[in-house]
Amino acid sequence: MDFSVVAGMFDRLESTSSRLEMADIMADYFSKAGPGELKSMVYLSQGRLGPEFATKEFGMADRLVLKAISFTSGDTDAATEALWFELGDPGAVAERLLGRKKQTTLFSEKLTLGRVIEVLTAIANAEGRDSQDKKMKLLANLLHNSDPVEARYICRIVAGRMRIGVASMTMLDALAIAFAEKSDRDEIERAFNVTSDLGLVAEALATGGLDAVREIKVGVGNPIKVMLAERLPSLGEILGRMGGRCALEYKYDGIRVQAHISPDGVKLYSRRLEDLTPNFPDIVESLRERCRHGTLIVEGECVAVDPETEAMLPFQNVTLRRRKHNMAEAVMKVPVRLFMFDLLYADGVDYTVKPFPERRAALADAFELGGDLGLTHLEVVSSEGEADAFFDGALAKKCEGIMAKSLNDDSVYRAGSRGFLWIKYKRDYRSDLADTFDLVVVGAFHGRGKRAGLYGALLMAVYDEDTGRYGTVCKLGTGFDDAFLEALPGMLEGWETDSAPKHVDAEMKPDVWVEPAVVLEVAGAEMSVSPIHTAAMGVFREGSGVGIRFPRFTGRVRDDKAPEDATTVAELVAMYRMQLDPAAE
Ligand code: AMP
Repeated sequence: MDFSVVAGMFDRLESTSSRLEMADIMADYFSKAGPGELKSMVYLSQGRLGPEFATKEFGMADRLVLKAISFTSGDTDAATEALWFELGDPGAVAERLLGRKKQTTLFSEKLTLGRVIEVLTAIANAEGRDSQDKKMKLLANLLHNSDPVEARYICRIVAGRMRIGVASMTMLDALAIAFAEKSDRDEIERAFNVTSDLGLVAEALATGGLDAVREIKVGVGNPIKVMLAERLPSLGEILGRMGGRCALEYKYDGIRVQAHISPDGVKLYSRRLEDLTPNFPDIVESLRERCRHGTLIVEGECVAVDPETEAMLPFQNVTLRRRKHNMAEAVMKVPVRLFMFDLLYADGVDYTVKPFPERRAALADAFELGGDLGLTHLEVVSSEGEADAFFDGALAKKCEGIMAKSLNDDSVYRAGSRGFLWIKYKRDYRSDLADTFDLVVVGAFHGRGKRAGLYGALLMAVYDEDTGRYGTVCKLGTGFDDAFLEALPGMLEGWETDSAPKHVDAEMKPDVWVEPAVVLEVAGAEMSVSPIHTAAMGVFREGSGVGIRFPRFTGRVRDDKAPEDATTVAELVAMYRMQLDPAAE
């Protein structure tokens, strides 16, 4: 397949923001591709060469990409850079400069998708002392043979700025349209949720249809999309919803880890599917040494502990383990313990389809426990009094709150979904404050006075799972300390754009727009219907959304959450209903 076809698809996708239209466009192209080509198209649409959890970064900063562009176009580095300042996107620079050059070039070879993948792979794999130069020349070679639109996307892909806004859910819609019936969408999504690999699902569909998709199973090496909890405002309601009896567990305040153990080694994944293996070498070692199975997938929360007293330490401590360098020092300084709460797979058996009591029993036997490996504290309760006492115990141990888990026959592990089989209940629900929200930065306002030269406030949004769009809920300017304000420009670097990002709906105009990427935890006094905010637009009043009043940054940057994992519109709506009438849920 010519790469120009793929670039043409990206170009068409970029010109629409309707999820339905995007799915139709992709379905059209997907149905005409061979299975291998399809897989590459699926990955490239999200700016990668493979699944999210297993692809190498291209390792090309904007300036290196610009170098390759000037190398190909013959412009000076200074001229290319000046254009980059004007356009803000290396893809647009390449398109402009190479477009001009192409009119005078007599010969160039037509690029195929296969050739692009081959060179992009070589770029990602280039290592060693002169790797930067190698990457630059490989890219220049591709650009030499690309037309302007192809060059735009190639440059965006290597610079990590693809962002044509194709969410995985839209891709699944497209695959269902191209290769199955609409009613098969759930089965296709299931296969994605248990493998986190869209390319794999696409290839199976194209070669073996729905039967092949049904054969896709949970297995070591493919992270499973995590199960998430709903929330309710009181312990009484939680018990009622669970049928009068449920398991309660402490809700630990740490980093969620999914461990995949096999004779080849142990891998740890975050809830965003990042590889956390290098961050917890001590836990990796314990899991490997003390596992009683050949292959196993378990989940737990990694929490920092005081080495003297063994008391749990606040979340900020364990985040020191997320750094990229000097891990040995962080391991020494921040001892952690893994509190395991679920078992999803063991020696060829898929436990995700089994009820929670069976999974928990298998988990209790899976390891030699002790030291840095433990189980979450659990108690089965059947009265509000017992639940209250358990909750107080959790707070005394410095936990965030508790998790209630269903013990019923249908209490399977629902990969990739939020539901009432797990219900969270946090400390904040008891105070006057509303719960905390995980909000996405979509804009920034320049600071004044003491904050001049820095950002002074941020425009914050929630995510709408149904439309794939972001709606704003507040302007946040409280709770920032000096260190955070200093760090903020670096955190947002590379995400700023001149106009509103494609998937953001906003009435309020910030000084600088920001692509959805950074998630912050925010506490608010209350929610209210707001004509200037766009989240949950029209749900409670026509022409108005729901806003958060008196928002305050809690100090927690949720870098363990992707923007799609932020508080959703559906959650916001449920929380607002809870606030309006706490007894009605
Ligand atoms: P939230 O991020 O507030 O939606 O809460 C869900 C998160 O709580 C999960 O993703 C886990 O990281 C964490 N967690 C802490 N303790 C538990 C537990 N006992 N069971 C399940 N999740 C837990």
